[in-house]
Amino acid sequence: MHFLSESLEKYITDHLQEEPELLQSLTRETHLKVVQPRMITGHYQGRVLSLFSKLINPLNILEIGTYTGYSALCLAEGLQENGSLHTIDINEELRDMQRSYFDLSPFGDNIVQHTGNAIEIIPQIELIFDLVFIDAEKTEYPKYLELVLQKTRSGSVILSDNVLWSGKVAEKAAKKDKATRELQEYNRMMNEHPKLETVILPVRDGLSFSRVL
Ligand code: SAH
Ligand code: CA
Repeated sequence: MHFLSESLEKYITDHLQEEPELLQSLTRETHLKVVQPRMITGHYQGRVLSLFSKLINPLNILEIGTYTGYSALCLAEGLQENGSLHTIDINEELRDMQRSYFDLSPFGDNIVQHTGNAIEIIPQIELIFDLVFIDAEKTEYPKYLELVLQKTRSGSVILSDNVLWSGKVAEKAAKKDKATRELQEYNRMMNEHPKLETVILPVRDGLSFSRVL
């Protein structure tokens, strides 16, 4: 979902750092071989993630929802030299494709893949993360948040994707529209949580930026 006019979007990408070639190939291969290619982080949001990560310069990053690895590679651009990025996806069929692109990048040795349900995997990773990117099952965002807060410190940053859900979060959600309802609950939690300071940025489908107090 795009909140800006086509011409403004074009203007923004015309004034954007170029998309690294590896990420261009990953996008092409994702569209050719993988279902739901719309889920991939695109050029613009990818540069946003990269820039945020470079500003934070994290030692450890946690990503929930790898898909084909695009956002992981953008976030890894900001890692400290000996840092690690742990990324979780429930779909094991994507694992080999993710690894082939991670290994073509300079960050192959820094990226650790986990296959399975994030709810089960997050508690098993014994690290404190400086940066977390939440982008898996939308109905589980409130649960991810509780688990992630056990793995962060004061000053950690949590980025959450698709929090505007094509604008549906601002409307009254139908009872059976679980994704919209859970995202509304999530945005409320992020805003009211005593340990978080959050702003929703209208980047692509809504990207919220939270600082852990
Ligand atoms: N971050 C990626 C896109 C992620 S799409 C990018 O920007 O390119 C969402 C991903 O979450 C899918 O690949 C899906 O398999 C994964 N997913 C869904 N439910 C999950 C769960 N319970 N645990 C871990 N991953 C899950
Ligand atoms: Ca997303």
